[in-house]
Amino acid sequence: MSGADDLDERYVSIGSKVYRDGVCFGADPTSGLTVINYVSLEHYLRDVLSREMSPGYPAEALKAQAVTARSYALDNLGKHSRYGFDLCSSTCCQMYTGTDAEYPQTDEACLATRGEILAYDGKLVAGYYFAYSGGYTQNSEDVWTSSVDYLRSVQDGFAPDYFWTAQLSFSEIRAKLEAAGYDPGTILSVRVGSRLANASVAALIVEGSKETVTLSKERVRTALGASTIRSVRFSMGGQPEPAIDIDRGQSGIALWSATGAAAAAETLTLQNASGEASSLPATDLVIWDGHQLVSTSALSETQITFTDDIVTGGTVYFKGMGYGHGVGMPQTSAREMANQGYGYQDILRYYYTDIEICQANECNE
Ligand SMILES: [Zn+2]
Repeated sequence: MSGADDLDERYVSIGSKVYRDGVCFGADPTSGLTVINYVSLEHYLRDVLSREMSPGYPAEALKAQAVTARSYALDNLGKHSRYGFDLCSSTCCQMYTGTDAEYPQTDEACLATRGEILAYDGKLVAGYYFAYSGGYTQNSEDVWTSSVDYLRSVQDGFAPDYFWTAQLSFSEIRAKLEAAGYDPGTILSVRVGSRLANASVAALIVEGSKETVTLSKERVRTALGASTIRSVRFSMGGQPEPAIDIDRGQSGIALWSATGAAAAAETLTLQNASGEASSLPATDLVIWDGHQLVSTSALSETQITFTDDIVTGGTVYFKGMGYGHGVGMPQTSAREMANQGYGYQDILRYYYTDIEICQANECNE
């Protein structure tokens, strides 16, 4: 990253690409030559921003993304220092193509937030983001490993609907697990091992003839395919139309009908994967209504049992909401907040807990 004045207009062409500022060349023992664009941070961001968020998004959402992308870039400076550069041009860091992806709207978002970063306790922090929250963002430790103070689960009041379905046969699951380094043998059953307080899946247990594999946290998605299992906010069953129908009645976990408004209902009817219905007194239940756990008594949510969450043969049918790892700012919720009139600082503070937005050298300790 160069300290060049970002208001300078200097260009270099390499092949069909045009880059700002300057380039240098390095020897690479494998590919022969590394072309390094020596570019100011603000120039770099002007191209990166539209790769990470559509320039058609509202201005305040683009500004929020500009601050997160800038923070992410600064936090990752030196990621590739052993090869002689800071950041690569692929999704490993952030997508970057020189000047191909500069647009007036994203340029404006960079300029309006010039130099601004996210800080926690006075220190620069990376701004993580993803596409759709499905109603909740996640604690960092529930997805990855360590607990990070500003990456807390948020009940997302701005999440647009995003539902997905997927199906995986037992043989497909076996193949995916083998590709991921496990040796389960013949798959005997698949079940949800545990759920988080916000009802997202925390562990998926695959019982095999040789080995029982427990997929935890983000490993559920990376092992089975992150574009197949689009979020950990899912229900599953052994029928093409799972018992859990998140479209119907706004119900996330249990397919239910009630004799009144959910929270005030006296009885709730639940249906299992076989279509058998049973009515239970509402006082014994805590239900997921698609956005939050609705307690109908003093019972805690850990007392819910999801009887549909085990499949013992054939195909596993998934139905879920949200798309992405779930940590940090959901971009589509940022768009929704901007459409409702919130500013970019409101958006960032809503999704990054107790965060400060400041110029890099002016953040409060
Ligand atoms: Zn990289």
